[in-house]
Amino acid sequence: MAHTLIADVIREETLLIGGEWVPGNGGEIEVENPATEETIGVAYKASADDAEAGILAAQAAFPRWAATPVGERVALLRRLGAVIRDRADRFAEIIHREQGSPPALARKLHVDVPLAVIDQTADALDSFEFTRQIGHSLVVREPVGVVAAITPWNLPLHQVVVKVVPSLAAGATVVHKPAELTPLTAFELARAISDAGFPPGTFNLVPGSGKDIGSLLTRHAAVDHVSFTGSTPVGAQVAAAAAQTIKKVTLELGGKSASVILADVDDELLTKAVKVTVANCYLNAGQTCTALSRLIVPADRLSEVEQVAIAAASKYAPGERLGPLISATHRMKVLEYTEGARSTGGRRIDTFDQSALPDRGYYARPAVFSDVDPKSDLAQDEIFGPVLSILAADDDQHAIDLANDSMFGLGGAVWALSEQSALQTARQIRTGQIDINGAAFNARAPFGGYKRSGLGREIGDFGIEDVLEIKSVQR
Ligand code: NAD
Repeated sequence: MAHTLIADVIREETLLIGGEWVPGNGGEIEVENPATEETIGVAYKASADDAEAGILAAQAAFPRWAATPVGERVALLRRLGAVIRDRADRFAEIIHREQGSPPALARKLHVDVPLAVIDQTADALDSFEFTRQIGHSLVVREPVGVVAAITPWNLPLHQVVVKVVPSLAAGATVVHKPAELTPLTAFELARAISDAGFPPGTFNLVPGSGKDIGSLLTRHAAVDHVSFTGSTPVGAQVAAAAAQTIKKVTLELGGKSASVILADVDDELLTKAVKVTVANCYLNAGQTCTALSRLIVPADRLSEVEQVAIAAASKYAPGERLGPLISATHRMKVLEYTEGARSTGGRRIDTFDQSALPDRGYYARPAVFSDVDPKSDLAQDEIFGPVLSILAADDDQHAIDLANDSMFGLGGAVWALSEQSALQTARQIRTGQIDINGAAFNARAPFGGYKRSGLGREIGDFGIEDVLEIKSVQR
Protein backbone atom coordinates (compact mmCIF):
# COMPACT_ATOMS: atom_id res chain seq x y z
CA MET A 1 0.00 0.00 0.00
CA ALA A 2 1.54 3.32 -1.06
CA HIS A 3 1.98 5.82 1.74
CA THR A 4 2.04 8.63 -0.83
CA LEU A 5 -1.70 8.23 -1.39
CA ILE A 6 -2.54 10.81 1.24
CA ALA A 7 -0.94 13.83 2.90
CA ASP A 8 1.07 13.38 6.11
CA VAL A 9 -1.55 15.35 8.01
CA ILE A 10 -5.04 15.23 6.52
CA ARG A 11 -7.15 18.33 7.04
CA GLU A 12 -10.93 18.07 6.82
CA GLU A 13 -12.33 21.55 7.33
CA THR A 14 -15.75 21.30 5.71
CA LEU A 15 -18.83 19.27 6.56
CA LEU A 16 -21.39 17.85 4.12
CA ILE A 17 -24.73 19.51 4.86
CA GLY A 18 -27.60 19.76 2.37
CA GLY A 19 -25.31 18.74 -0.51
CA GLU A 20 -22.78 21.55 0.17
CA TRP A 21 -19.37 21.34 1.79
CA VAL A 22 -19.59 24.04 4.47
CA PRO A 23 -17.13 25.11 7.20
CA GLY A 24 -17.46 23.26 10.51
CA ASN A 25 -17.96 25.74 13.35
CA GLY A 26 -17.52 23.45 16.36
CA GLY A 27 -13.72 23.53 16.73
CA GLU A 28 -11.13 20.90 15.82
CA ILE A 29 -10.52 17.23 16.50
CA GLU A 30 -6.85 16.18 16.34
CA VAL A 31 -6.60 12.63 15.05
CA GLU A 32 -3.79 10.46 16.43
CA ASN A 33 -2.32 7.35 14.84
CA PRO A 34 -2.49 4.79 17.67
CA ALA A 35 0.43 2.85 16.18
CA THR A 36 2.83 5.82 16.20
CA GLU A 37 1.22 8.31 18.61
CA GLU A 38 1.64 11.00 15.91
CA THR A 39 -1.01 13.48 14.84
CA ILE A 40 -2.13 12.41 11.38
CA GLY A 41 -5.18 14.54 10.86
CA VAL A 42 -7.31 17.48 11.87
CA ALA A 43 -11.07 17.37 11.42
CA TYR A 44 -13.50 20.18 12.05
CA LYS A 45 -16.50 19.48 14.23
CA ALA A 46 -20.08 20.57 13.76
CA SER A 47 -21.41 23.24 16.11
CA ALA A 48 -24.93 22.77 17.51
CA ASP A 49 -26.17 25.07 14.71
CA ASP A 50 -24.36 22.97 12.08
CA ALA A 51 -25.94 19.80 13.48
CA GLU A 52 -29.35 21.48 13.43
CA ALA A 53 -28.74 22.46 9.80
CA GLY A 54 -27.80 18.85 9.00
CA ILE A 55 -31.01 17.53 10.56
CA LEU A 56 -33.16 20.11 8.75
CA ALA A 57 -31.42 19.35 5.43
CA ALA A 58 -32.20 15.64 5.92
CA GLN A 59 -35.79 16.51 6.79
CA ALA A 60 -36.16 18.72 3.69
CA ALA A 61 -34.66 16.05 1.39
CA PHE A 62 -36.84 13.26 2.78
CA PRO A 63 -40.11 13.57 0.79
CA ARG A 64 -38.39 13.48 -2.61
CA TRP A 65 -35.94 10.78 -1.66
CA ALA A 66 -38.70 8.62 -0.17
CA ALA A 67 -40.60 8.91 -3.46
CA THR A 68 -37.58 7.99 -5.63
CA PRO A 69 -38.23 4.82 -7.63
CA VAL A 70 -36.54 1.77 -6.09
CA GLY A 71 -34.60 1.13 -9.32
CA GLU A 72 -32.94 4.54 -9.03
CA ARG A 73 -31.97 3.89 -5.44
CA VAL A 74 -30.52 0.50 -6.40
CA ALA A 75 -28.47 2.16 -9.16
CA LEU A 76 -27.14 4.81 -6.75
CA LEU A 77 -26.14 2.15 -4.21
CA ARG A 78 -24.28 0.24 -6.91
CA ARG A 79 -22.54 3.47 -7.96
CA LEU A 80 -21.52 4.08 -4.34
CA GLY A 81 -20.01 0.58 -4.26
CA ALA A 82 -18.09 1.35 -7.45
CA VAL A 83 -16.78 4.69 -6.10
CA ILE A 84 -15.55 3.10 -2.85
CA ARG A 85 -14.02 0.18 -4.77
CA ASP A 86 -12.11 2.68 -6.94
CA ARG A 87 -10.81 4.36 -3.78
CA ALA A 88 -10.33 1.18 -1.75
CA ASP A 89 -6.58 1.69 -1.27
CA ARG A 90 -7.16 5.21 -0.03
CA PHE A 91 -9.85 4.08 2.42
CA ALA A 92 -7.58 1.29 3.68
CA GLU A 93 -4.67 3.71 4.10
CA ILE A 94 -6.77 6.17 6.09
CA ILE A 95 -8.14 3.39 8.32
CA HIS A 96 -4.64 1.96 8.80
CA ARG A 97 -3.48 5.37 9.97
CA GLU A 98 -6.37 6.52 12.13
CA GLN A 99 -7.50 3.20 13.58
CA GLY A 100 -4.15 1.40 13.61
CA SER A 101 -5.06 -1.83 11.79
CA PRO A 102 -2.17 -3.46 9.92
CA PRO A 103 -2.44 -2.66 6.16
CA ALA A 104 -3.66 -6.09 5.01
CA LEU A 105 -6.39 -6.14 7.66
CA ALA A 106 -7.33 -2.55 6.90
CA ARG A 107 -8.16 -3.65 3.36
CA LYS A 108 -9.64 -7.11 3.96
CA LEU A 109 -11.71 -6.50 7.08
CA HIS A 110 -12.31 -2.76 7.07
CA VAL A 111 -12.94 -2.11 3.36
CA ASP A 112 -13.84 -5.37 1.61
CA VAL A 113 -16.49 -6.41 4.16
CA PRO A 114 -18.46 -3.12 3.95
CA LEU A 115 -18.16 -3.30 0.15
CA ALA A 116 -19.83 -6.72 0.29
CA VAL A 117 -22.54 -5.22 2.54
CA ILE A 118 -23.21 -2.47 -0.03
CA ASP A 119 -23.51 -5.02 -2.87
CA GLN A 120 -25.82 -7.23 -0.81
CA THR A 121 -27.97 -4.28 0.26
CA ALA A 122 -28.44 -3.28 -3.38
CA ASP A 123 -29.48 -6.88 -4.20
CA ALA A 124 -31.81 -6.98 -1.18
CA LEU A 125 -33.45 -3.69 -2.21
CA ASP A 126 -33.86 -4.91 -5.78
CA SER A 127 -36.15 -7.73 -4.65
CA PHE A 128 -37.62 -6.14 -1.50
CA GLU A 129 -41.40 -6.51 -1.03
CA PHE A 130 -42.65 -3.10 0.10
CA THR A 131 -46.33 -4.12 0.00
CA ARG A 132 -48.41 -7.02 1.18
CA GLN A 133 -52.14 -7.79 1.04
CA ILE A 134 -53.72 -8.95 4.33
CA GLY A 135 -57.48 -9.52 3.89
CA HIS A 136 -58.92 -6.22 2.67
CA SER A 137 -55.84 -4.28 3.85
CA LEU A 138 -52.94 -3.23 1.69
CA VAL A 139 -49.97 -3.17 4.04
CA VAL A 140 -47.31 -0.75 2.83
CA ARG A 141 -43.84 -0.20 4.17
CA GLU A 142 -42.62 3.38 4.09
CA PRO A 143 -39.26 4.89 5.05
CA VAL A 144 -39.09 6.07 8.64
CA GLY A 145 -37.93 9.66 7.89
CA VAL A 146 -34.66 11.11 9.21
CA VAL A 147 -32.20 8.58 10.65
CA ALA A 148 -29.46 9.79 13.00
CA ALA A 149 -26.50 7.39 12.74
CA ILE A 150 -24.07 7.47 15.67
CA THR A 151 -21.04 5.22 15.26
CA PRO A 152 -17.94 3.93 17.12
CA TRP A 153 -14.24 3.88 16.22
CA ASN A 154 -13.53 0.15 16.03
CA LEU A 155 -14.63 -0.39 12.40
CA PRO A 156 -14.80 3.20 11.14
CA LEU A 157 -16.17 2.37 7.67
CA HIS A 158 -18.15 -0.84 8.27
CA GLN A 159 -20.13 0.45 11.26
CA VAL A 160 -21.21 3.47 9.22
CA VAL A 161 -22.04 1.53 6.06
CA VAL A 162 -24.31 -0.95 7.92
CA LYS A 163 -26.46 1.98 9.09
CA VAL A 164 -26.27 4.50 6.26
CA VAL A 165 -26.61 2.16 3.28
CA PRO A 166 -29.80 0.32 4.39
CA SER A 167 -31.30 3.68 5.46
CA LEU A 168 -30.66 5.26 2.05
CA ALA A 169 -31.88 2.03 0.42
CA ALA A 170 -35.16 2.24 2.34
CA GLY A 171 -35.73 5.85 1.25
CA ALA A 172 -34.80 7.41 4.59
CA THR A 173 -32.38 10.34 4.85
CA VAL A 174 -29.38 10.37 7.18
CA VAL A 175 -27.42 12.56 9.57
CA HIS A 176 -24.17 10.89 10.62
CA LYS A 177 -22.06 11.57 13.71
CA PRO A 178 -18.85 9.51 13.62
CA ALA A 179 -16.65 8.65 16.63
CA GLU A 180 -14.28 11.43 17.70
CA LEU A 181 -11.27 9.09 17.42
CA THR A 182 -11.86 8.12 13.76
CA PRO A 183 -13.54 10.98 11.87
CA LEU A 184 -11.27 10.89 8.78
CA THR A 185 -12.83 7.72 7.33
CA ALA A 186 -16.25 9.30 7.78
CA PHE A 187 -15.24 12.36 5.71
CA GLU A 188 -13.93 10.04 2.99
CA LEU A 189 -17.23 8.13 2.97
CA ALA A 190 -19.24 11.38 2.83
CA ARG A 191 -17.20 12.38 -0.24
CA ALA A 192 -17.90 9.01 -1.86
CA ILE A 193 -21.65 9.33 -1.19
CA SER A 194 -21.68 12.84 -2.63
CA ASP A 195 -19.60 11.82 -5.67
CA ALA A 196 -21.84 8.81 -6.31
CA GLY A 197 -24.65 11.30 -6.96
CA PHE A 198 -27.02 10.94 -4.03
CA PRO A 199 -29.31 13.99 -4.00
CA PRO A 200 -28.40 16.94 -1.72
CA GLY A 201 -29.49 16.44 1.89
CA THR A 202 -30.01 12.67 1.68
CA PHE A 203 -26.75 12.22 3.63
CA ASN A 204 -25.26 14.79 6.02
CA LEU A 205 -22.07 14.59 8.06
CA VAL A 206 -21.94 16.27 11.49
CA PRO A 207 -18.85 15.16 13.45
CA GLY A 208 -18.50 16.08 17.11
CA SER A 209 -18.56 14.72 20.62
CA GLY A 210 -21.19 12.32 21.89
CA LYS A 211 -22.06 14.65 24.74
CA ASP A 212 -22.79 17.62 22.43
CA ILE A 213 -23.71 16.50 18.92
CA GLY A 214 -24.65 12.87 19.73
CA SER A 215 -27.07 13.87 22.43
CA LEU A 216 -28.50 16.71 20.28
CA LEU A 217 -29.33 14.15 17.57
CA THR A 218 -30.99 11.78 20.03
CA ARG A 219 -33.24 14.54 21.43
CA HIS A 220 -34.12 16.45 18.26
CA ALA A 221 -37.81 16.37 17.31
CA ALA A 222 -37.06 16.17 13.57
CA VAL A 223 -35.05 12.95 13.96
CA ASP A 224 -37.35 9.94 13.54
CA HIS A 225 -34.97 7.06 14.24
CA VAL A 226 -31.67 6.82 16.10
CA SER A 227 -29.34 4.08 14.97
CA PHE A 228 -26.54 3.76 17.51
CA THR A 229 -23.52 1.45 17.71
CA GLY A 230 -21.33 1.66 20.78
CA SER A 231 -21.11 0.62 24.39
CA THR A 232 -24.06 -0.70 26.38
CA PRO A 233 -24.09 2.13 29.00
CA VAL A 234 -24.13 4.84 26.30
CA GLY A 235 -26.75 2.83 24.38
CA ALA A 236 -29.01 2.98 27.43
CA GLN A 237 -28.56 6.78 27.59
CA VAL A 238 -29.35 7.07 23.88
CA ALA A 239 -32.54 4.99 24.26
CA ALA A 240 -33.65 7.07 27.26
CA ALA A 241 -33.06 10.36 25.40
CA ALA A 242 -34.82 9.08 22.26
CA ALA A 243 -37.82 7.95 24.35
CA GLN A 244 -38.71 11.58 25.10
CA THR A 245 -39.90 12.05 21.51
CA ILE A 246 -40.84 8.34 20.93
CA LYS A 247 -38.18 7.81 18.30
CA LYS A 248 -37.49 4.40 16.93
CA VAL A 249 -34.13 3.10 18.11
CA THR A 250 -31.65 0.55 16.80
CA LEU A 251 -28.90 -0.34 19.25
CA GLU A 252 -25.82 -2.41 18.41
CA LEU A 253 -23.99 -2.71 21.72
CA GLY A 254 -21.36 -4.73 23.51
CA GLY A 255 -20.69 -8.47 23.54
CA LYS A 256 -18.90 -11.28 25.37
CA SER A 257 -19.33 -14.02 22.83
CA ALA A 258 -18.63 -17.67 23.58
CA SER A 259 -16.98 -20.26 21.37
CA VAL A 260 -18.35 -23.58 22.59
CA ILE A 261 -16.51 -26.83 21.89
CA LEU A 262 -18.83 -29.81 22.38
CA ALA A 263 -17.64 -33.13 23.81
CA ASP A 264 -17.84 -35.09 20.53
CA VAL A 265 -15.02 -33.20 18.70
CA ASP A 266 -11.98 -35.15 17.47
CA ASP A 267 -8.41 -33.82 17.76
CA GLU A 268 -8.51 -32.20 14.34
CA LEU A 269 -11.70 -30.23 14.96
CA LEU A 270 -10.58 -29.28 18.46
CA THR A 271 -7.34 -27.83 17.09
CA LYS A 272 -9.20 -25.93 14.38
CA ALA A 273 -11.73 -24.63 16.90
CA VAL A 274 -9.06 -23.26 19.23
CA LYS A 275 -7.02 -21.67 16.42
CA VAL A 276 -10.07 -20.02 14.83
CA THR A 277 -11.27 -18.78 18.23
CA VAL A 278 -7.88 -17.21 19.03
CA ALA A 279 -7.82 -15.55 15.58
CA ASN A 280 -11.37 -14.26 16.02
CA CYS A 281 -10.72 -13.03 19.56
CA TYR A 282 -7.60 -11.12 18.49
CA LEU A 283 -9.06 -9.74 15.23
CA ASN A 284 -8.68 -5.95 15.14
CA ALA A 285 -6.62 -6.23 18.37
CA GLY A 286 -9.68 -7.65 20.12
CA GLN A 287 -11.71 -4.56 19.30
CA THR A 288 -14.68 -6.19 17.59
CA CYS A 289 -18.09 -6.44 19.20
CA THR A 290 -18.50 -10.11 18.20
CA ALA A 291 -15.03 -11.17 19.46
CA LEU A 292 -15.08 -14.78 20.67
CA SER A 293 -13.54 -13.77 23.98
CA ARG A 294 -14.73 -16.82 25.94
CA LEU A 295 -13.64 -20.30 24.89
CA ILE A 296 -15.75 -22.98 26.61
CA VAL A 297 -14.22 -26.45 26.41
CA PRO A 298 -14.77 -29.96 27.81
CA ALA A 299 -12.94 -30.07 31.18
CA ASP A 300 -11.12 -33.30 30.26
CA ARG A 301 -9.60 -31.64 27.15
CA LEU A 302 -8.41 -28.48 28.97
CA SER A 303 -4.65 -29.12 28.83
CA GLU A 304 -4.82 -30.03 25.12
CA VAL A 305 -6.76 -26.80 24.46
CA GLU A 306 -4.25 -24.76 26.46
CA GLN A 307 -1.30 -26.03 24.39
CA VAL A 308 -2.98 -25.12 21.10
CA ALA A 309 -4.10 -21.72 22.43
CA ILE A 310 -0.63 -20.80 23.71
CA ALA A 311 0.96 -21.72 20.36
CA ALA A 312 -1.74 -19.85 18.37
CA ALA A 313 -1.52 -16.73 20.57
CA SER A 314 2.28 -16.59 20.27
CA LYS A 315 1.89 -15.88 16.52
CA TYR A 316 0.19 -12.53 17.20
CA ALA A 317 3.21 -10.29 17.55
CA PRO A 318 2.14 -6.75 18.45
CA GLY A 319 3.21 -4.34 15.74
CA GLU A 320 3.05 -7.05 13.08
CA ARG A 321 -0.02 -9.24 13.07
CA LEU A 322 -1.63 -7.53 16.06
CA GLY A 323 -2.42 -3.83 15.74
CA PRO A 324 -2.48 -1.34 18.61
CA LEU A 325 -5.41 -0.53 20.85
CA ILE A 326 -7.18 2.66 19.85
CA SER A 327 -5.86 5.02 22.57
CA ALA A 328 -3.75 5.37 25.70
CA THR A 329 -6.92 5.45 27.83
CA HIS A 330 -8.32 2.30 26.27
CA ARG A 331 -4.97 0.53 26.72
CA MET A 332 -5.03 1.35 30.44
CA LYS A 333 -8.50 -0.19 30.69
CA VAL A 334 -7.37 -3.39 28.93
CA LEU A 335 -4.25 -3.66 31.13
CA GLU A 336 -6.45 -3.68 34.23
CA TYR A 337 -7.71 -7.06 33.01
CA THR A 338 -4.36 -8.48 31.92
CA GLU A 339 -1.94 -7.18 34.54
CA GLY A 340 -4.07 -5.31 37.05
CA ALA A 341 -6.80 -5.68 39.63
CA ARG A 342 -9.23 -7.46 37.32
CA SER A 343 -6.81 -10.17 36.17
CA THR A 344 -7.36 -12.40 39.20
CA GLY A 345 -10.20 -14.53 37.81
CA GLY A 346 -7.97 -17.01 35.96
CA ARG A 347 -4.51 -18.48 35.38
CA ARG A 348 -2.49 -16.59 32.77
CA ILE A 349 -0.86 -19.04 30.35
CA ASP A 350 0.39 -17.10 27.30
CA THR A 351 4.13 -16.81 26.78
CA PHE A 352 4.56 -13.59 24.82
CA ASP A 353 7.63 -11.63 25.85
CA GLN A 354 6.76 -8.19 27.29
CA SER A 355 10.09 -6.75 26.09
CA ALA A 356 9.09 -7.48 22.47
CA LEU A 357 6.38 -4.82 22.54
CA PRO A 358 7.04 -1.92 20.10
CA ASP A 359 8.48 1.22 21.79
CA ARG A 360 5.68 3.42 20.52
CA GLY A 361 1.99 2.90 20.03
CA TYR A 362 -0.77 1.63 22.29
CA TYR A 363 0.08 -2.05 21.99
CA ALA A 364 -0.85 -4.75 24.46
CA ARG A 365 0.46 -8.29 24.78
CA PRO A 366 -2.09 -10.85 23.54
CA ALA A 367 -3.34 -12.61 26.68
CA VAL A 368 -4.78 -16.07 27.36
CA PHE A 369 -6.27 -16.98 30.74
CA SER A 370 -7.31 -20.53 31.59
CA ASP A 371 -9.53 -22.05 34.29
CA VAL A 372 -11.38 -18.76 34.34
CA ASP A 373 -14.01 -18.37 37.07
CA PRO A 374 -17.33 -17.88 35.23
CA LYS A 375 -18.37 -15.13 37.64
CA SER A 376 -15.11 -13.16 37.40
CA ASP A 377 -14.65 -9.85 35.58
CA LEU A 378 -12.49 -11.69 33.03
CA ALA A 379 -15.43 -13.92 32.11
CA GLN A 380 -18.19 -11.32 32.36
CA ASP A 381 -16.87 -7.95 31.13
CA GLU A 382 -16.41 -6.85 27.55
CA ILE A 383 -12.70 -6.04 27.62
CA PHE A 384 -12.39 -4.97 23.94
CA GLY A 385 -8.75 -6.04 23.76
CA PRO A 386 -6.74 -9.18 22.83
CA VAL A 387 -7.73 -11.20 25.89
CA LEU A 388 -9.06 -14.77 25.68
CA SER A 389 -10.65 -16.51 28.68
CA ILE A 390 -10.87 -20.32 28.64
CA LEU A 391 -13.63 -21.86 30.78
CA ALA A 392 -13.99 -25.58 31.53
CA ALA A 393 -17.41 -27.28 31.19
CA ASP A 394 -18.41 -30.58 32.81
CA ASP A 395 -20.66 -31.59 29.90
CA ASP A 396 -22.44 -30.07 26.87
CA GLN A 397 -25.39 -28.75 28.89
CA HIS A 398 -22.98 -27.05 31.30
CA ALA A 399 -21.20 -25.52 28.28
CA ILE A 400 -24.51 -24.06 27.03
CA ASP A 401 -25.31 -22.73 30.52
CA LEU A 402 -21.90 -21.06 30.72
CA ALA A 403 -22.34 -19.54 27.25
CA ASN A 404 -25.68 -18.06 28.37
CA ASP A 405 -24.27 -16.83 31.70
CA SER A 406 -23.75 -13.31 30.33
CA MET A 407 -25.68 -10.06 30.20
CA PHE A 408 -24.71 -9.89 26.51
CA GLY A 409 -26.12 -11.87 23.59
CA LEU A 410 -24.35 -10.81 20.42
CA GLY A 411 -22.36 -13.58 18.72
CA GLY A 412 -20.99 -17.04 19.30
CA ALA A 413 -19.60 -20.22 17.80
CA VAL A 414 -20.30 -23.92 18.20
CA TRP A 415 -17.91 -26.73 17.29
CA ALA A 416 -19.20 -30.31 16.98
CA LEU A 417 -18.85 -33.35 14.75
CA SER A 418 -22.58 -33.96 14.87
CA GLU A 419 -24.37 -31.36 12.79
CA GLN A 420 -27.57 -32.04 14.67
CA SER A 421 -26.10 -31.37 18.11
CA ALA A 422 -24.29 -28.29 16.74
CA LEU A 423 -27.58 -26.89 15.48
CA GLN A 424 -29.45 -27.80 18.67
CA THR A 425 -26.77 -26.08 20.72
CA ALA A 426 -26.80 -23.01 18.45
CA ARG A 427 -30.57 -22.77 19.03
CA GLN A 428 -30.09 -22.87 22.80
CA ILE A 429 -27.51 -20.09 22.95
CA ARG A 430 -29.31 -16.74 23.30
CA THR A 431 -27.45 -14.54 20.84
CA GLY A 432 -28.20 -12.80 17.55
CA GLN A 433 -25.70 -14.81 15.51
CA ILE A 434 -23.81 -18.09 15.85
CA ASP A 435 -21.30 -19.74 13.51
CA ILE A 436 -21.09 -23.52 13.34
CA ASN A 437 -17.65 -25.09 12.76
CA GLY A 438 -16.09 -21.84 11.52
CA ALA A 439 -18.74 -20.83 8.96
CA ALA A 440 -18.07 -17.44 7.35
CA PHE A 441 -19.73 -14.06 7.96
CA ASN A 442 -22.77 -13.53 5.72
CA ALA A 443 -23.02 -9.94 4.41
CA ARG A 444 -26.76 -10.32 3.78
CA ALA A 445 -27.87 -12.07 6.99
CA PRO A 446 -29.42 -9.99 9.81
CA PHE A 447 -26.96 -8.77 12.44
CA GLY A 448 -27.82 -7.70 15.98
CA GLY A 449 -28.02 -8.69 19.61
CA TYR A 450 -30.18 -10.36 22.24
CA LYS A 451 -30.24 -9.13 25.84
CA ARG A 452 -28.00 -6.10 26.53
CA SER A 453 -26.26 -6.44 23.18
CA GLY A 454 -28.95 -4.42 21.50
CA LEU A 455 -32.25 -3.89 19.75
CA GLY A 456 -33.12 -4.29 16.08
CA ARG A 457 -31.16 -5.77 13.20
CA GLU A 458 -28.78 -4.37 10.61
CA ILE A 459 -27.60 -5.61 7.18
CA GLY A 460 -29.49 -6.95 4.16
CA ASP A 461 -33.29 -7.24 3.99
CA PHE A 462 -33.64 -6.98 7.79
CA GLY A 463 -31.47 -3.86 7.84
CA ILE A 464 -33.83 -2.22 5.34
CA GLU A 465 -36.87 -3.41 7.32
CA ASP A 466 -35.45 -1.84 10.48
CA VAL A 467 -35.87 1.69 9.06
CA LEU A 468 -39.35 1.23 7.60
CA GLU A 469 -42.71 2.18 9.08
CA ILE A 470 -45.74 -0.03 8.43
CA LYS A 471 -49.07 1.36 7.22
CA SER A 472 -52.34 -0.59 6.79
CA VAL A 473 -54.63 0.77 4.10
CA GLN A 474 -58.16 -0.70 4.22
CA ARG A 475 -60.14 -0.72 1.01
P1 NAD B 1 -19.17 4.66 22.90
O1 NAD B 1 -20.45 4.14 23.42
O2 NAD B 1 -18.27 5.37 23.82
O3 NAD B 1 -19.42 5.67 21.70
C1 NAD B 1 -20.13 5.32 20.53
C2 NAD B 1 -20.61 6.58 19.84
O4 NAD B 1 -21.57 7.22 20.68
C3 NAD B 1 -19.54 7.64 19.58
O5 NAD B 1 -19.79 8.25 18.34
C4 NAD B 1 -19.74 8.63 20.71
O6 NAD B 1 -19.32 9.93 20.41
C5 NAD B 1 -21.26 8.59 20.86
N1 NAD B 1 -21.78 9.02 22.15
C6 NAD B 1 -21.16 9.02 23.36
N2 NAD B 1 -21.99 9.50 24.32
C7 NAD B 1 -23.16 9.80 23.71
C8 NAD B 1 -24.41 10.31 24.15
N3 NAD B 1 -24.62 10.63 25.43
N4 NAD B 1 -25.40 10.49 23.25
C9 NAD B 1 -25.22 10.16 21.97
N5 NAD B 1 -24.06 9.68 21.47
C10 NAD B 1 -23.04 9.49 22.33
O7 NAD B 1 -18.46 3.39 22.23
P2 NAD B 1 -17.01 3.30 21.60
O8 NAD B 1 -16.03 3.28 22.72
O9 NAD B 1 -16.84 4.30 20.51
O10 NAD B 1 -17.08 1.85 20.91
C11 NAD B 1 -16.82 0.67 21.59
C12 NAD B 1 -18.11 -0.03 21.99
O11 NAD B 1 -18.92 -0.22 20.83
C13 NAD B 1 -17.90 -1.41 22.55
O12 NAD B 1 -18.71 -1.60 23.68
C14 NAD B 1 -18.37 -2.34 21.44
O13 NAD B 1 -18.84 -3.58 21.83
C15 NAD B 1 -19.44 -1.55 20.82
N6 NAD B 1 -19.67 -2.02 19.46
C16 NAD B 1 -20.80 -2.73 19.18
C17 NAD B 1 -21.01 -3.22 17.90
C18 NAD B 1 -22.24 -4.00 17.52
O14 NAD B 1 -22.54 -4.06 16.35
N7 NAD B 1 -22.95 -4.56 18.45
C19 NAD B 1 -20.08 -2.97 16.92
C20 NAD B 1 -18.93 -2.27 17.25
C21 NAD B 1 -18.74 -1.77 18.53
